[in-house]
Amino acid sequence: MYICTGRPVDDIKHIVSFSGGKDSTAMLIRMIEEGMPIDDIVFIKVMATATLGAELPEMYDYIERVEDYIHRKITVVPSILNFDEVFHQVFMSGERCGEIYGYPFTIGAWCNNRLKIRTIEHHFKTYGKHIRYVGIAADEPERLERLEPYCRAPLAEWGMTEKHCISFLQDRNLTNPLYQKFRRLGCWFCVKQGLDSLRIIRREYPDYWAMMLRWDLESPHPFKPEWTVHDLEERFAAEDCQLSIFDFNNFECLPIAA
Ligand code: SF4
Repeated sequence: MYICTGRPVDDIKHIVSFSGGKDSTAMLIRMIEEGMPIDDIVFIKVMATATLGAELPEMYDYIERVEDYIHRKITVVPSILNFDEVFHQVFMSGERCGEIYGYPFTIGAWCNNRLKIRTIEHHFKTYGKHIRYVGIAADEPERLERLEPYCRAPLAEWGMTEKHCISFLQDRNLTNPLYQKFRRLGCWFCVKQGLDSLRIIRREYPDYWAMMLRWDLESPHPFKPEWTVHDLEERFAAEDCQLSIFDFNNFECLPIAA
């Protein structure tokens, strides 16, 4: 049965999964340029607390910039549970009975499943039959192998690699500014991020770092296998000190003008 638009009433919907990263953004823009059907564009907004997002503020500004560029709205879906809430949940049985979850472990982190995947599955059910478009590049064979039958990866179909995505967005002046600071994007409290990235969080987002320090006091295990956030705070503070001594020495060595 068809309605006047010529599309079947029970048509399969085409839903773009958008993360604000280079791959899904390049996929979205090219899908629009190619005139591919898109019924909705979804951004899953992982929440750090009930009121604070898990991404850095630049990400939310960038989403608005992409909306302006494509002249349409992106559906922002907050995670059903927030990080702070699950962090404080108590195990009711097993070896860790009575303990709170605390920081996720770097391997088998609970956050992806509890915060992101659960929200994705819940939200995408509301579309009924659909095809999900995911930003997996042509040079990500392992992720492509795990692609679910209801998903499509247009970047791989076009042969676009991660590098192609970067230049594609540069050509359109649409690069996410967070890539000037970070190699990978994600939650600001992510246990999987490297020390360079954590140094930036501490230096440029002190309120978020302070929150990580507070969680650190409560977590039953360290933030990273070898570091608590307090260890990192000490280490980074010592680095800052060394840096300023170095600056001071350099200053002392400058030749005195005649
Ligand atoms: S980015 Fe890191 S903290 Fe956020 S959901 Fe993924 S693994 Fe967890």
